[in-house]
Amino acid sequence: MKDEKAKPRGRRAKDADRRMGRRTLLIGGAAAAVGTAVLARDELRRLWWRMPGMEKPRVDGAVDFRGATWVAASAANWRRADRPDDYGIDRVIIHVTQGSFASAVRVFQDPGHGAAAHYIVRKDGHITQMIRELDVAFHAGNREFNERSVGIEHAGFVDRPEDFTDAMYAASARLTARICERYGIPVDREHIIGHVEIPGTDHTDPGPHWDWDRYLRLVREAAEASTSRGVAEAATSTA
Ligand SMILES: [Zn+2]
Repeated sequence: MKDEKAKPRGRRAKDADRRMGRRTLLIGGAAAAVGTAVLARDELRRLWWRMPGMEKPRVDGAVDFRGATWVAASAANWRRADRPDDYGIDRVIIHVTQGSFASAVRVFQDPGHGAAAHYIVRKDGHITQMIRELDVAFHAGNREFNERSVGIEHAGFVDRPEDFTDAMYAASARLTARICERYGIPVDREHIIGHVEIPGTDHTDPGPHWDWDRYLRLVREAAEASTSRGVAEAATSTA
């Protein structure tokens, strides 16, 4: 779980410079004239919500997953965005907190922590959402993967398999199924990954006791149940 804000360095630092350059051009209104119209459009797509009156409405306490409880993370641990319109979402990243549920909530509220995930799942299946999916949470320790993913923490320790309860697996799988459905993410191990699989990470979570086969099966079942429910509702409403 613990992880630092992705620091711009090396190639990323250069990208950031270029990005600033494009922004300056855009603000100067000269972008199209110098033949960077495509880049400017791309930049505009990422920035439109910062313009006055253009921001999507947000409701205090709103959650993206029905049944989740909202507890706001410190604004220092995430970045405001407008996903999936500015950054596409194509990964769900599975974490284990290496601590209790309460301590995870506490550190995500701490502006000094520098990291937080969108969701925390408790042993009894309770889900707390701390960052909206449209925003970029600092949970992967990798800027690109933060921008393209939704992060889910599971309260417990990687070396304590008993922490991963049936209720936790079931609730987390329903959550992941909904996320995959919303953004058209394939339910497979390429798109639903562990923190350990993020390029450059030194984190090991969710660890060897996380049962991926079981988890993927539960996500698929939850996705199918939700699809057939949707079909049934549609049939009822047109009958
Ligand atoms: Zn992690």
